[in-house]
Amino acid sequence: MKKYAIIGFGCAGYNGAKALRAHAPDAAIHVFDNSGAPPFSPMLSTYHAAGKLPYEAVFPFGTLEDIAKELKLDIIGETVVEVSAERTITTDKATYENYDGILLATGADALVPGFLTCTGEKWFLMRTLKDAQRLRSYLDTHTVRTAAVVGGSMVGIKVAELLHAAGVKVTIVDAAPYLFPLAAYRSTAEAIQSKLEEKGVAFAFDAKVSAIDEGGVTFADGAKLESDLVCLCIGTRANVDVLRPSGVNIGRAVVVDEHMESSVKGIYAAGDCCEGRNLQTGKTAIIGLWANAGAQGACAGANMAGVHTEYHGNILHNITHFFDMDFIGLGDASVQGEHHRFAGKNFSIELVMDEGHLKSVNIFGNYKISGILKHHLTKQLLGAESTLTPAQRGLLEQHGLPRDFIELIGGASHD
Ligand SMILES: Cc1cc2nc3c(=O)[nH]c(=O)nc-3n(C[C@H](O)[C@H](O)[C@H](O)COP(=O)(O)OP(=O)(O)OC[C@H]3O[C@@H](n4cnc5c(N)ncnc54)[C@H](O)[C@@H]3O)c2cc1C
Repeated sequence: MKKYAIIGFGCAGYNGAKALRAHAPDAAIHVFDNSGAPPFSPMLSTYHAAGKLPYEAVFPFGTLEDIAKELKLDIIGETVVEVSAERTITTDKATYENYDGILLATGADALVPGFLTCTGEKWFLMRTLKDAQRLRSYLDTHTVRTAAVVGGSMVGIKVAELLHAAGVKVTIVDAAPYLFPLAAYRSTAEAIQSKLEEKGVAFAFDAKVSAIDEGGVTFADGAKLESDLVCLCIGTRANVDVLRPSGVNIGRAVVVDEHMESSVKGIYAAGDCCEGRNLQTGKTAIIGLWANAGAQGACAGANMAGVHTEYHGNILHNITHFFDMDFIGLGDASVQGEHHRFAGKNFSIELVMDEGHLKSVNIFGNYKISGILKHHLTKQLLGAESTLTPAQRGLLEQHGLPRDFIELIGGASHD
């Protein structure tokens, strides 16, 4: 009987297990996870911290017992410390050998960079369920009037939102010159910023934080921002160290091919711990998104079971709802080209075109069109026929997009 291991049971691990079980009905599947909980959605952590979602609601696939029963999994609640090229797994408690395939799906941790000194009890991270619970409990038991959110990221904005809703005066601090620097053009970011300023959120950009302590944050130039609480939201670090002894190729994460296999045969990786193909650059990159983790996990699971499957890759994209606004960034905002701007009723769109092709787009206030535009952009990057279908054009018009916008990105004129 074949025997497989999945290390890490989040979105990537769960979808890996599901695909593996579908294609290998009789195999033994060992799932190693150290969270002590069912697969959790980090996307819901801020809603839990805000008190908007109860504990049970942050596990989208159900309880661990039900999942284990349905997919016939052996759940091993241990921390993996090492994986060898011979596919031996060492945990904090035991050694497990002779796997036919291993999927690393250990995700990422919130990043605390080495240059930053963090001391005291008033600083927080936002990635795991424990992070969300710790922040909630602190807000419930302390008087918090002011907070600094370090990182003008998608996570940072959600943390700012929950603190603001709790009556806290929030300052978003970032070393970058504007919000969402990877996903937003400066003009879109500044439009979002001014809306947030109207709501009372303050900003400090081009401001590198060097220390966090009980008093708040200290900047590299010695200036201080006093605050009752600090939340660090400056990105993530892939959990890949357990794979280093196996000799797999690791960049910022485990480098995988289109089958999600690493440079060592039989060892696969999926989700936030891997670098899959970025369709826009053709290179490998971490694309830390929920749906991407699920698709990569499913692809890895099928290939582990011997069913040849390819995952073509993904583009950078962000779809975030905050403070009753929504921002969608599709594609790499730093790609050069001609900028075009369109404004509709209560929304604005900015996009970059190059040689007649859409390269990236920012949508502020009209999330309903994001699916069509992502599909269109992805198709163009895959080199497929890129004219919008009549149904897509119709939907874009229905959602208020002007005809010259539709024609510009690849929809033939109706006239
Ligand atoms: C606040 C927030 C908001 C987000 N919003 C969005 C959004 O709007 N849209 C979107 O697409 N994405 C969003 N994301 C990102 C998305 O949640 C992640 O990309 C996705 O959950 C990654 O899933 P994963 O399975 O790779 O990793 P994870 O969910 O991190 O799961 C990894 C699992 O591995 C376990 N593990 C780690 N190391 C070990 C070890 N050594 N031994 C055993 N077990 C181990 C962990 O305990 C964990 O259970 C957000 C993330 C956050 C934090």
